[in-house]
Amino acid sequence: MASYDVVVIGAGMGGLAAANLLAAQGKSILVVDALPEAGGKMGRAQHEGVYFDTGPSVLTLPEILDDIFKAAGTSVADEIELLKGDHVFEYLFANGTTVPVHFDPNDTLQAVRETLSETAAEDLKRFLDYAKNIWDVAAPHFVYGPAPTIGSAFKLGMVKWRDLRKVDPMRSMKAAIDAQVKSNYIRDILLRYATYNGSDPRSAPATLNCIAWVEMGAGCYGVNGGMHQVAQAMERVAARNGAEFRYDSPVARILTANGRVSGVQIGDEAIACDAVVSNADVAHLVNDLAPQVSSVSAPKEPSMSGWTAVVKAKRTDRPAHQVLFPEHDYLNEFSDIFDHDRPPTSPTVYVCAQEKAHGREGWDEHEPVFIMANAPAEPANGARNADIWGELESKVMTRLRERGLLAADDEIVWRRTPGKLAATFPGSRGSIYGAASNNQFAAFQRAPNAVKDLPGLYIATGSAHPGGGVPLCMLSGRAAVEAMDG
Ligand SMILES: Cc1cc2nc3c(=O)[nH]c(=O)nc-3n(C[C@H](O)[C@H](O)[C@H](O)COP(=O)(O)OP(=O)(O)OC[C@H]3O[C@@H](n4cnc5c(N)ncnc54)[C@H](O)[C@@H]3O)c2cc1C
Repeated sequence: MASYDVVVIGAGMGGLAAANLLAAQGKSILVVDALPEAGGKMGRAQHEGVYFDTGPSVLTLPEILDDIFKAAGTSVADEIELLKGDHVFEYLFANGTTVPVHFDPNDTLQAVRETLSETAAEDLKRFLDYAKNIWDVAAPHFVYGPAPTIGSAFKLGMVKWRDLRKVDPMRSMKAAIDAQVKSNYIRDILLRYATYNGSDPRSAPATLNCIAWVEMGAGCYGVNGGMHQVAQAMERVAARNGAEFRYDSPVARILTANGRVSGVQIGDEAIACDAVVSNADVAHLVNDLAPQVSSVSAPKEPSMSGWTAVVKAKRTDRPAHQVLFPEHDYLNEFSDIFDHDRPPTSPTVYVCAQEKAHGREGWDEHEPVFIMANAPAEPANGARNADIWGELESKVMTRLRERGLLAADDEIVWRRTPGKLAATFPGSRGSIYGAASNNQFAAFQRAPNAVKDLPGLYIATGSAHPGGGVPLCMLSGRAAVEAMDG
């Protein structure tokens, strides 16, 4: 029987991060994935020979990847090329107002001054300072550190209560934005950061306003050749350090002996190992792979899902990223998704021109344009009537054509509904970021990175601590390895 120190189930961001760190320690590692290649939700697809990304569109906090690569004997600069771009985002409002956002926050403030007003720029500057403060205080304890508990937070609060007040945990993101920002345009731009965590700004704690700083202040990067290059580079570096990879290999069960992990079962084959790092969604882990685990629960409320597509669009001079806000109050979108469990009646549409954002190469006269609308996660008890996604698609395409962002004959060449996302990633219910953070205790409710009642089992995924999004998933891989190292 094949035998390894550690089997990593899943070559998504958390699994690849763990594999890199473990292989660098000289451990024998096997990474297995049900899909045909690395990346997980950071996937790619192709049409007529042109590859495009089907998952993340922006990379933030690249220093986290750099730390992992440094431990593995290399660096981000040696493995991938980060792109800063200039005119990064364009926010388009229904009344024709356009707010550009640049890589450098000072350029963004200048653009806001010119397109909106001095007051709007001042409000944004003050808000970004506030958001940075939250990040500086919260990140060491709640993001980079081990999974917090109410007890550990209480102890920390006894020592650092002055600092901890700055993380603004008691009011909602929306309440904090309303209290600090007068411009409705800036308000909508800031509210949208709740979606980077798949949450509802009306109930997510204001602590999450730090996301505005992470993207607008700390830097929003493209990756030359496409986001999927990150996954490929992580796989390459881990393999260079001895990790083995097997694809099209769904793990059916985590095996145990004498009360601890002893291996994994793939089809008829059992593979022995001393430890397993599970990068699978936590619900799949605890419901299917290791149902005997009782100390860890699946997320109670999954984060939002998304309806996504790639359009073969006539090449035009468009910015890397555009967000087309709806005609009605943006908050209606959150009410549709979280209160009524339905796709947005008037969807906000995100558009990523992958040639501009990531230097991808399109067709002769056409470029791959990724589009996305937020959507509710799939119901726990089965799929929805798929007709609703057809309706959402036609609304999205009509809005993009009416606003001149797509030509009449630009066609969708790839699409993925929340149901398809759910089917590809078992246990996810199509959620993009794992668990929603729609209450003050969300940080304490995420699955920890080590499983108490099954020694040898570790968790590295967006549905565990510290949460979803590419950099945080990488940190979950690191936290799993640190837990293993004791
Ligand atoms: C459309 C979209 C847009 C996004 N945009 C951004 C963005 O711009 N920026 C950002 O930071 N994040 C973004 N995200 C979120 C980000 O992609 C995810 O948070 C992250 O990639 C998830 O990584 P993970 O470690 O949780 O692993 P996953 O990506 O969930 O991968 C888990 C892997 O485990 C495998 N697996 C599961 N069960 C088994 C099994 N039984 N046997 C074998 N293999 C198994 C799966 O096949 C999969 O490959 C986006 C995601 C999507 C889908």
